[in-house]
Amino acid sequence: MPEQNFDIVVLGGGSGGYATALRASELGLSVAVIEKDKVGGTCLHRGCIPTKALLHSAEIADASRDSEHYGIKSTFESVDIQGVTNYREGIVAKKFKGLQSLLKARGITTIAGEGKLVGGTTVQVGDDRITGKNLVLATGSYSRSLPGLELGGRVITSEQALQLDFVPKKVAVLGGGVIGVEFASVWKSFGSDVTIIEGLPHLVPNEEEVLSKALERAFRKRGIDYKLGVRFQSVTQNDDGVVVTLENGETVEAELLLVAVGRGPLTANMGFEEAGIKLDRGFVQTNERLLTDVPNVYAVGDIVFGLQLAHRSFQQGIFVAEEIAGQNPVIIEEANIPRITYCEPEVASVGLTEAKAVEKFGADKVASYDYSLAGNAKSEIIGTSGSIKVVRVKDGPVVGVHGIGSRMGELIGEAQLVVGWEAYPEDIAPFLHAHPTQHEALGEAFLALAGKPLHAL
Ligand SMILES: Cc1cc2nc3c(=O)[nH]c(=O)nc-3n(C[C@H](O)[C@H](O)[C@H](O)COP(=O)(O)OP(=O)(O)OC[C@H]3O[C@@H](n4cnc5c(N)ncnc54)[C@H](O)[C@@H]3O)c2cc1C
Repeated sequence: MPEQNFDIVVLGGGSGGYATALRASELGLSVAVIEKDKVGGTCLHRGCIPTKALLHSAEIADASRDSEHYGIKSTFESVDIQGVTNYREGIVAKKFKGLQSLLKARGITTIAGEGKLVGGTTVQVGDDRITGKNLVLATGSYSRSLPGLELGGRVITSEQALQLDFVPKKVAVLGGGVIGVEFASVWKSFGSDVTIIEGLPHLVPNEEEVLSKALERAFRKRGIDYKLGVRFQSVTQNDDGVVVTLENGETVEAELLLVAVGRGPLTANMGFEEAGIKLDRGFVQTNERLLTDVPNVYAVGDIVFGLQLAHRSFQQGIFVAEEIAGQNPVIIEEANIPRITYCEPEVASVGLTEAKAVEKFGADKVASYDYSLAGNAKSEIIGTSGSIKVVRVKDGPVVGVHGIGSRMGELIGEAQLVVGWEAYPEDIAPFLHAHPTQHEALGEAFLALAGKPLHAL
């Protein structure tokens, strides 16, 4: 049985796995990445990138419908779904090629095949055994369903939703979290009737309540229907469509049901538990430095409980590579990882919500300012409304930023630096923001919290 040895073996070549490999190779370590499908994983092939391409096509559809408002005469004719697919696949193919070249240029060995942990730091792929001085598990996640809710036919997950070769006339979306509202937004822009079903009281329920409520208003205005605080009971399907029954007896009829109720860790049947890796509801248990209970075996990405985001996986991959190289990297707090929901309007946040800040510091120690985009010229120009809320500790740093509005995601880069560096609004106030930009809205909130509002009361 052929044996291969490396400083690091990475099981899974998605965001977490390939980031580990790239950083490790920079640090002079020899690395092998074992991947059963395509490097780039969920994010590149079935997640972040293709969905954002779809959302961009959706934005163009909306812009062509609304063009007259801006003095441009155009008519929205229809969605050429094959054209949308070609555009989306073109982006993914280009990024995939780029990633493959990068891994090759960095001298990283990519091993194609399904790996199984056989103990210690050794993985078996077919007849080969690959051993690392260290092993990093990065096998990612899958679309979950609910107990008793069978996937298949007209009951689909995001994987099938991306592959649809038609625009459904009517869709029901189970789950008002990130993936659910993004697809709802795309389909509405493409002309579908959409109903979202969410068991919790709000859409994007993990966000600051003010953002959830603003998104609900915006979706209502767009004609996206939603049912909140009501749980799914059952679904039936036939040749024409699905009928979803809710616990309150209501029914929703649609052509398709998208199940977007979260993602489970992909950790079963890969020899993890047999090798002594502890799992908790399927997630790999690690310490705060991402080390499992087995010496020299680490885990990164969606299999580690927490925010399932590609940039968290990148960050954890970089962290583990540096940890193995003995660089003692800094732990990034989960709350300080930026979060964006790319529907229209976008929802973006970093740090603590006001409620969490109050829990942590006490009500008398927390101040916040909610700046309406109505006061921001660039937002008016591009025809968006919304707000940006900044939460600070009194006489202390900014601990949270929460925004809603078109293109809000682009602002979160600045916000995360402010939160991550624990800057005080008074520190930031002298750094003015270019005019006219949406960044000014963030600047205005910082100015207001520093006691010197400009275009605000
Ligand atoms: C529809 C959708 C939209 C999303 N949009 C965003 C977004 O906009 N922004 C964002 O930050 N995140 C987004 N995400 C989440 C993001 O895709 C994940 O957080 C990220 O891909 C997790 O990276 P990972 O490395 O942990 O796992 P993955 O990317 O899933 O990679 C795991 C890899 O391991 C391989 N693998 C698994 N088991 C084995 C085995 N036994 N042997 C060999 N290989 C194996 C898999 O084939 C896969 O390639 C989205 C996800 C979805 C589904």
